[in-house]
Amino acid sequence: MLARFMRAAVFLDRDDTIIDTQGVTADSSRPGDLWRPELVRLMPGAAGALRALREAGLALVVFTSQGGVARGGYGLPEVEAVNDRMRDLLLEHSGVRLDGLYYCPYHPTGSVAPFNIEHDWRKPAPGMIRTASRELRIDVSASFAVGDKPRDVEAAVNGGLARDRCFLLATSGESPADCADLPAAARLILGRAR
Ligand SMILES: [Mg+2]
Repeated sequence: MLARFMRAAVFLDRDDTIIDTQGVTADSSRPGDLWRPELVRLMPGAAGALRALREAGLALVVFTSQGGVARGGYGLPEVEAVNDRMRDLLLEHSGVRLDGLYYCPYHPTGSVAPFNIEHDWRKPAPGMIRTASRELRIDVSASFAVGDKPRDVEAAVNGGLARDRCFLLATSGESPADCADLPAAARLILGRAR
């Protein structure tokens, strides 16, 4: 595909990158599994950071692991409800609309068919990056990624992004992080995107 018909994107992890899951599920049996839309809250500065990226002409594409579906923690309707709530909050707080959202409900050690399988959408495999790039006409060589887990970055690199265009956040305490949070990542991206 000709590069001039393609655009650069920022591939964004969802949980603990755009929305806070650890903080709101700390007292639950599975911390991090967020399936109740009324608990969804944006990470500090996330809405403004996404608006700045969007205004710079970058497509915003969320790619999120939801292996809790395979593990029986919640179902697809709950994933959709949380996604919808996040979209509503972004629109409300910053007028931002996402260009795409992809989620992976699969996990090979889950108990719920048909999701208890290995799948090329499961990070660090690059299936979500590749599918999104094809469907949304994204130039991966000009794109960026942000996530709070090493496998977010690995999936992006496996999908063809340059490692130095991927930013691992310090949010989850995984080290060594590239920057503190999504607003910091956005500043670095805007410095690189011209
Ligand atoms: Mg995450």
